[in-house]
This record gives sequence, structure tokens and C-alpha cells, in this order.
Amino acid sequence: MKYLGNITKMKSVLSNSVEYFLPIGENKIEMNSLLGNEIKISWTGEINCVKCGKVTKTSFFQGFCYNCFQISPETAPCILNPELCEAHLGISRDMEWAQNNCLQDHFVYLSLTSGLKVGVTRASQIPTRWIDQGAVKAIKIAKTPNRNLAGLIEVDLKQYFSDKTAFQKMLKTENVLDINLKTEKNNASELLRPDLSQYLIPESEIVEIKYPILKYPTQIISFNLDKEKSITGNLMGIKGQYLIFSNGNVLNIRKYSGYKFIFEY
Ligand SMILES: [Zn+2]
Repeated sequence: MKYLGNITKMKSVLSNSVEYFLPIGENKIEMNSLLGNEIKISWTGEINCVKCGKVTKTSFFQGFCYNCFQISPETAPCILNPELCEAHLGISRDMEWAQNNCLQDHFVYLSLTSGLKVGVTRASQIPTRWIDQGAVKAIKIAKTPNRNLAGLIEVDLKQYFSDKTAFQKMLKTENVLDINLKTEKNNASELLRPDLSQYLIPESEIVEIKYPILKYPTQIISFNLDKEKSITGNLMGIKGQYLIFSNGNVLNIRKYSGYKFIFEY
């Protein structure tokens, strides 16, 4: 089979293990069924902005042209730093977008990726956010009515917990992290600034996520389609937004949102 079209990050469905779908043009490729098979991904050299569709030479913020990057609410500073969100004060690049995205329930969570991390996500993005970062377990710790408050909680907890994922370690790690999320949640609850503790939630279900991986890589090589233009190899697994090939090459699909790909298998 051969597909041609602009891609976006993979869609996912959480079941026994995560089911992945790669949107390409009008199609969606069922990625799990390709495990163990040879696939070939080539970049045509074209990028279309994921927002306005215009051709752009360079992709900003994973898929935007420079103009959209500067004015879109999806690329505002509060996307990376939720505590900077001012939507609750009526300030946003696009208040209608903010109403549907920033001024909605958010969760602060702890997850296990390459290690223990704290993070923030809009309620409707659970479990997508956890899958995209390659978390194997996650637990919600606080619920807030907007993005800013969740960000303030995260900033406070960053004193005690990392907010980063080391992607190479994440891709090599199966489930060896001996960390009890309920204990860590209790720790976080006690450490949190008292004026924010009203947002803590008692619920403590641990969500476990399994990824479709035939064999974990021992060595990771970040494949760069901007330079190499084409990658061919046996697909050994998918974790987060990464395709893992048998020789240790990994391709971060999210980085190529808006790129026009030829996908063959
Ligand atoms: Zn654009």
C-alpha cells in the first residue's frame, strides 16, 4: 500500500495496549497492524501549516507557519507554561478558543515516563496526553476550573518533582520503575502550598498504559527526516509519538505535523 498526504500526530485509543492511527491526507493508517513489518516513510520536501494550510519552509511549534505561530492561541506561551495563562482575566489571543480550552477543567497529575514527573492537562485530553508522553502509569492529583490554576500548582510541585521526560530513557524503559504513585500523590498533597490545597482530589485511581512494542530498543538513534528524507525499516514498536525501528532508529511523528509524507508498506 502507498499513501501520500500531510500528516499530523498519531491518534490513539487506550485498550489492552494503545491502538495508534496515523492521519495522512484523508486516510488513517492502522499502525498496530504494521508491527513486525517493513515500512517506508519519505518526506516530499513540502510542509503545509497545520492551521492555515499555506506552504511553509520551516515548521514552528510542530507544524505552524511563522505567521500562525505568532498569532495562534495554540502556540501561545501558556501552552508550554500553563501558569502564564491569562484567559481567566479575559486576556487571550482568541477568547473563544480560550473559553473552549483554557477555561475548562484541568488536571494536575503525576506520571511515570522516563521517571516520575508532574504535568498539567485539560480534562478532555486524558488519557491522550499521557499516551503522547509515553507514560506507563498516571494518577490525577488536583482538579482546577482553568489552566492558570493548574499551572500554579504545577510550578509549586516542580520544586519536588521533575516536569521533564528524557525520551531516550522513556523509549528503553518497559515497566521497571519501582515508584508507588499513591505514595507520591500523598507526598505531593502534603508538600503543596496550602492556599492551593483546595484543588486536591481524593480520587486515586492509577491508570496503566501498555504500548504495542515487540522488542524494546537497547540503543536509540533519533532519525532526522529533514536531513535524510526517507527511512525504511522494520517497525518494532510505538510509544508516545515515536515509531521504533528494529535497528534502534526512532522517529518522533509529532515533530513532523504538517509534513507531506509518502507512506509505504
Ligand atoms: Zn499558517
